[in-house]
Amino acid sequence: MSPGTSTSRAAARVHGLGWSRLWPQWRAMLQPRDLAPDAIAGLTVALTAIPLSMAIAIASGVAPIAGLITAVVAGVVAALFGGSAWSVSGPAAAMAVLLASIVEEHGVAGLALASLLAAALQLLTGMLGLGRVARLVPLPVVVGFTGGIGVIIFVGQLPRALGLPAPDQAHVVDVVTHIGELIEHASIAAVGLALTAFLLVVVSGRIGRKIPGALLAVITATVAAEAMGLEVERVGPLPLSSLSWPSLHPGDIDWTALVGDALVIYALASLETLLSAGAVDRLARSVPHDPNQELVGQGLANLAAVAAGGLLGTAVIARSGLNVAAGARTRRAALLHGVLVAVLVLSFAPIVARVPLAALAGILLAIAVGMLAPAELVSLWRQSRTEAAVCLATLFTMVAFDLVVGVRVGVIAALAIAAFRHGRTDATVQPIGEHGPYRFTLRGPLTFLGMSRLDELRAALPQLQGPRGIVLDLAEVPSVDVSAGDALAPLLSDIERRAIAFALIARRPVLEVLARHDRDGRWAARVVADERAALRLLGAAEALGPEERLRDGVARFQAVARDRHQALFEHLAKGQSPHTLFVACADSRVSPLLITSAEPGEVFVHRNVGNIVPPPGGDDMPAEGAAVEYAVGVLGVKQIVVCGHSGCGAMAAIAGGVPPGLPSVERWLGFAAHVRDRVPLGASPEALARANVLIQLENLRRYEVVRAALERGALTLQAWYYDIAAAEVEAWDAERGAFTPLSPPQAASA
Ligand code: ZN
Repeated sequence: MSPGTSTSRAAARVHGLGWSRLWPQWRAMLQPRDLAPDAIAGLTVALTAIPLSMAIAIASGVAPIAGLITAVVAGVVAALFGGSAWSVSGPAAAMAVLLASIVEEHGVAGLALASLLAAALQLLTGMLGLGRVARLVPLPVVVGFTGGIGVIIFVGQLPRALGLPAPDQAHVVDVVTHIGELIEHASIAAVGLALTAFLLVVVSGRIGRKIPGALLAVITATVAAEAMGLEVERVGPLPLSSLSWPSLHPGDIDWTALVGDALVIYALASLETLLSAGAVDRLARSVPHDPNQELVGQGLANLAAVAAGGLLGTAVIARSGLNVAAGARTRRAALLHGVLVAVLVLSFAPIVARVPLAALAGILLAIAVGMLAPAELVSLWRQSRTEAAVCLATLFTMVAFDLVVGVRVGVIAALAIAAFRHGRTDATVQPIGEHGPYRFTLRGPLTFLGMSRLDELRAALPQLQGPRGIVLDLAEVPSVDVSAGDALAPLLSDIERRAIAFALIARRPVLEVLARHDRDGRWAARVVADERAALRLLGAAEALGPEERLRDGVARFQAVARDRHQALFEHLAKGQSPHTLFVACADSRVSPLLITSAEPGEVFVHRNVGNIVPPPGGDDMPAEGAAVEYAVGVLGVKQIVVCGHSGCGAMAAIAGGVPPGLPSVERWLGFAAHVRDRVPLGASPEALARANVLIQLENLRRYEVVRAALERGALTLQAWYYDIAAAEVEAWDAERGAFTPLSPPQAASA
């Protein structure tokens, strides 16, 4: 642990193994609290994981035992070191087709080598803090991938479900064209078992998340097969003793192909893992997981699982969701799942050996149908035809051609789309209010790809009423390349030539490029911090009343919401599930959503003068109490943050007296007046603001809902202090007895 802590200051971006960050969670696992719910969740997931792991191993072209080893080893290691407390790791259906094709091409030994390489890459990506990169793959490609894999698994498992020996990784087209022959030779017993298993999984999935449908399916099918004495192929004995590393001859290995395969495994497994962790965040309504830690955990888990003779696994959405639904509280649930898989398989090995393969095929058919996710495709189609087309193209390419090629093509398409998106610049021209200046907005990196946008703005100039002026808003242009920089200067010259007054809002990269073209510092004088300053510079501040200003703001919000967040708002319309209650001051400079970068729906905000929460029963108009009880008791938030701030007028009034003629303020601040007793005489309003948030936490603890939630371990309380000038947020560190900055120190050059 010590090397990590000593280097983390020098390079804040490097993640390392993150063990110092995991330490408190490991300690919590050793305490008896929540052991019962964790054990129940662990058992529920283990019972589902056993049949799934065997089925996925078969679909991956290896023995069922390899899947069970993955569930145990990767399950335990990822539970200890992963970035998401509720994630369950194990063999993944999404990986099965890729792994099977590598087994076919390079054998089990080749798969093991490529998997170890991929695992090492995962570990490295996480340690270097590059975890977010793996999330850049656009959604349509992911949906297409998953659907394509679903089709391939479905078709690939059909022969097994018909009770026929599976041809070696039959191509989809082969199976479909020979379907008549296959059905002719089908075994009625196998078809019955597969159909039963398939229906049980589908139906139990419809009824509720808590029913382990896969377990129900194998038990029913096994009992039926035994009772009727059916002649069907079984899993057979699990050869624990003969488990050994496949023999390797370095001379025989095609390293180029292997490294290529490792890269594809790495990309798909990391993507699958981070998608799952993201889904778990939403299900558990937890604070977002740490992608770097998640990749560190997956890297370690897969190194261990493959070394132990298992498959490479990922965090898996269905088992993680089951874990959350079954009531898991800590990492211990996912860890227990792995331990229990081992215990159960060892105790019931003779029964496991009798499970009919057709039942496992039935389960896989159900998983495959789920992977097709028609609802997701329809929603994609509604949002954007291009994205739906990309999705379908990915799906059909994968199904029609070889999967590894399909995955490679998909990744390249993903990168191309990401590059295109990255280079896309939006440009708009709108008047601000009825008489205010025009707003020219550019959004996105300004590169040669977006240069035509600058021409559009120049072309709009002749139609404008010059005296109104222009606000050139480049605040959301994060970077600019040389060619675009050269095109930006003529736009400003054009505006000047037409004698139109303008103000410029821009970030440093844009200003640096412009400075090279700014002959006498004329443009530097037009640079302002924000739009209000721009309106003042153009003498238009008075022309726009407060109502017009807000109307304009709403219009801009709607334009952005329609463009970028349509899906988000559709989702939000259905209800809220915030993870945090945030109590802040009403001060206009304090914006809880801004300082936490929270998205709509994430944070339940209550604001008042001085961020005060009166103790229960102390206030005859309990607005604060209502917010607390609703957020904790109904919405089930996981944490409450009380945030004070620098330059707080309420704290100044408590220190120096309330101005006359404000009886309500006088009464209200009475709830916090005793904060003076906590600080030395003559302390600054800043010291009062920090002491004040701690008092509010004490008041919060006296609410019955809060006390009960704290006791269950379902809630944490945080005291924050926001330093406006430094844009720094500090949090109360109870162990040190001091407020410490929340963000890690940045490198000095940044
Ligand atoms: Zn304030």
